[in-house]
Amino acid sequence: MALTWLPAWTTQEGAARVRTLFEATFETAPDGVWSAPGRVNLIGEHTDYNGGLCLPIALEHRCFVAFAARSDDRVRLVSAQGDGTLWEADLAQVAPGAVDGWGAYVVGVAWALREAGLAVGGFDGAVDSCVPFGAGLSSSASLEAAFAVALDHAGDLGLAASDEGRAALAAACVRAENEIAGAATGGMDQAASLRARDGYALALDCLDDSVHHEPFDPAGYELLVVDTRAPHSLNDGQYASRRATCDAAAAALGVPTLRHWLDAAPDASAAVADALARLTDDVARRRVRHVLTEIARTQEAFAAMQAGDWTTFGALMNASHDSLRDDYEVTVVELDVAVDTARASGAVGARMTGGGFGGSAIALVPAGTSDAVASAIAAAFADRGLAEPAFLTSRAAGPAA
Ligand code: ADP
Ligand code: MG
Repeated sequence: MALTWLPAWTTQEGAARVRTLFEATFETAPDGVWSAPGRVNLIGEHTDYNGGLCLPIALEHRCFVAFAARSDDRVRLVSAQGDGTLWEADLAQVAPGAVDGWGAYVVGVAWALREAGLAVGGFDGAVDSCVPFGAGLSSSASLEAAFAVALDHAGDLGLAASDEGRAALAAACVRAENEIAGAATGGMDQAASLRARDGYALALDCLDDSVHHEPFDPAGYELLVVDTRAPHSLNDGQYASRRATCDAAAAALGVPTLRHWLDAAPDASAAVADALARLTDDVARRRVRHVLTEIARTQEAFAAMQAGDWTTFGALMNASHDSLRDDYEVTVVELDVAVDTARASGAVGARMTGGGFGGSAIALVPAGTSDAVASAIAAAFADRGLAEPAFLTSRAAGPAA
């Protein structure tokens, strides 16, 4: 069976594509080209909005943007992934609830930077991306982050030059996605796209937004990403309901976030036991157990990464998936089949990545076996009558630039 692989474009290829699209659309040359990566989270899922920890890497797959500043407030956008028409808006009119369509992710960034008191004007932009769309690999954050660094350059804001500045750009992207695009997001995706470092995993502490860069070069293994292509129509309501349950549980426990509860306990098992003794609702108990154990697993995985202990790292990936399946209930059959098949085909660890309800899974597989593992997964999908999955591999790549 022929497999569908989704290769990353080279920088030259991506830049050439968006320049051509920009020139064909706007009949002039852009000021320049910027790009930003998608991401996979290695472990630490549904922890960001609980003040927890996560451990993403930036993908080699990037969203490219050809950009030209304008002297007025007009924004005109075109995307190779769109329907060929121009998306237009006036920056002065951008407000929560006022804009529709994919351009909301873009003008939302400009709006949020203005809200932060920064001088940002109108612009023309052309977009082309090899980050698969809606696959849980953060095409949305890569789109925001590419425009964030373009706007940083155009306005001479100087934010992209430091990690602190990049954290401010990431915060603007989060506001864009939450308030203007109207999509719930916890902050991991934007941090990964803007604050990752080439060759490193990004250990993000969502309590204080601090980051640590740890080399990610799993000797003897490679990372296989499975875009399950599962439809995820329930995503928005389910994500909001998970968040609401966690917020309510933290309030019932008398802490600002579940992370505070974990940190106040002698260890993770004591934190879980104490929380379960106080919470009465069975669903809330299971959701909380996932969050507390997942934050602890992410701490352990970070230590395993530092020690180069990929067997332990893989076991923690497996435990993460099982917790997301059984306690957090955000997996779907496609994610479970991909993970089960990867494990049976030699993966040292496999799990869903991203919010769940479709999207992608990752597997840490022995070097050179991605093709065989992918074949087994594609065959398992075909056996069950599931849509054909797509595959990609990536090393830990660099941030928006
Ligand atoms: P994910 O971030 O997992 O890929 P999301 O649902 O968060 O999925 O974001 C996908 C949305 O982001 C698309 O529906 C579209 O509105 C926007 N988007 C992402 N990339 C592009 C692009 N290259 N061109 C136009 N819109 C894009
Ligand atoms: Mg997204």
